[in-house]
Amino acid sequence: MLKVTTNVHAEPLRVVVIGGGLAGLACSIGLRRSGHKVTVLEKDAVLESPPGGVRIPPNATNILKDWGYKDQLETTSKSMNVFNIIDFETGKSLLHEIWDSIGGTHQVIEKFSQEFRYTSHSACRKLLYDIATELGVEVRLGSPIVDCDLEKITVTTELGEVVEGDFMVGADGSGGFSRRQFGTESKPKGPVLFNLYNAVTPRKVVSDDDSLKDFIEQNAFWGWCGDTHTSSGFFMGEDGDFATHTYTPFDGTEGDWTSESHPKWDHVEPRLKKILEGATSTKCITIRDYEHLDEWVHESGNLVLVGEAAHPLIPCSMQAFGMAIEDAAVLGKLFAHTKSKDKITSLLWAFQDLQQPRYERITTQEFTLIKTMMFPPGEDRQKRDDLLSTKAGNASAVHITHDGHGWAGYQELLGYDAEGEAENWLTEWERIRELDGSLSSPVDDYFNVRVTKSSHRSSWPGSGHPSPAGTPTRRRNEV
Ligand SMILES: Cc1cc2nc3c(=O)[nH]c(=O)nc-3n(C[C@H](O)[C@H](O)[C@H](O)COP(=O)(O)OP(=O)(O)OC[C@H]3O[C@@H](n4cnc5c(N)ncnc54)[C@H](O)[C@@H]3O)c2cc1C
Repeated sequence: MLKVTTNVHAEPLRVVVIGGGLAGLACSIGLRRSGHKVTVLEKDAVLESPPGGVRIPPNATNILKDWGYKDQLETTSKSMNVFNIIDFETGKSLLHEIWDSIGGTHQVIEKFSQEFRYTSHSACRKLLYDIATELGVEVRLGSPIVDCDLEKITVTTELGEVVEGDFMVGADGSGGFSRRQFGTESKPKGPVLFNLYNAVTPRKVVSDDDSLKDFIEQNAFWGWCGDTHTSSGFFMGEDGDFATHTYTPFDGTEGDWTSESHPKWDHVEPRLKKILEGATSTKCITIRDYEHLDEWVHESGNLVLVGEAAHPLIPCSMQAFGMAIEDAAVLGKLFAHTKSKDKITSLLWAFQDLQQPRYERITTQEFTLIKTMMFPPGEDRQKRDDLLSTKAGNASAVHITHDGHGWAGYQELLGYDAEGEAENWLTEWERIRELDGSLSSPVDDYFNVRVTKSSHRSSWPGSGHPSPAGTPTRRRNEV
């Protein structure tokens, strides 16, 4: 298994990561794998998450497997081969898809390299923490950052300890210290979009109830679509409890990851009602629109935002963990060849260039999917249900969409090769430098070309502008 490529780097860079959530831990792994000296400073004294389920989409499973963590992934999470979609109010089955019977395991997992896995938030965090510390990342718990000097590249913890690096990675979430360095509010101020109820029901509640035996017997992901409501459910790992994520219209309940709430589940089909009412933990999270950040690289050039600090996603959506791993893969790959501090800012811009359009597409896709699952009765809902029933037996049916992207769009999103894209970017950078006289400065290392914001905006692959080479977007096992 590949460990750390320290031999490649004469002088490892010192990276300070603010926040030890999924994105911070993942990015520490990506950068450590590239040989850098990484310190993670996490506010909490104990790495604990409230109970809750996490989906690991293929774009993340592929990266973790490439990194050599297939075994750890398999002991931490569970793959599924059945996909059920049910009417939220009546319980009527809208789709029952056994991937094996449609060549699913072969087609979806092998041909498209698309394996979805399911686990808990705390298991994901522990997996990343174990990998990071095994690789030699220093994770300091109980170290909230209260101050920083972005020119000197230092952060100060609540206890007054000063930690210095060559650059900083802000991974402290959507309301964190790092995001505030960009002049944003600590709390989202936009309109409430909807509420999320993040619940966990003990396995025993499900296994003891005869009417819920399908949930035990089928190795399935469950999705419920209903009148302005939608829910998804899965077992968190092989013997885990049952997690549900239910999105509802805003009902006046304001909350966050710590807010326990037990609503009445009226107008909910009987089996889901039992599951929701049998939950031992139900957190109500209010979902608001966030202030969009145009730039993720601080003007000092020394701080980059990743994960939710850069771009908040819909909580518990499919890509929360996926994008944390992708950020790590891109950052790690970009910094894999770095020898000089002069290259840092350019590579941080490259990270933004690669991941910002990706986040924008993912966010659009996640919103579209959730909205499609919440259609009130009417033409759109009928169209959706017809589509599901007519497409049964066809892998494309598992990804319903009304946004025009369709199966091909999902293929691209889920089969995205983040490391390959970062590699393309580096190759392209070298090529542009060779072609462009203004960039062929008398240096013997192309990384010494410092990319300014303006040149970055107009030239680089991934920026939304046509790349000079017309480099195609790379996907795994492209078909
Ligand atoms: C408590 C919690 C529970 C969640 N549970 C689920 C779930 O069950 N399912 C799901 O799909 N998604 C869940 N999410 C969302 C999910 O974690 C994120 O969507 C995504 O994984 C990206 O996380 P992140 O690392 O970017 O940010 P976050 O998860 O917000 O992590 C940020 C980290 O930074 C730390 N931090 C904050 N301020 C400072 C500071 N000043 N100094 C040092 N450290 C700081 C925080 O303690 C935290 O560990 C949860 C998020 C939170 C905050």
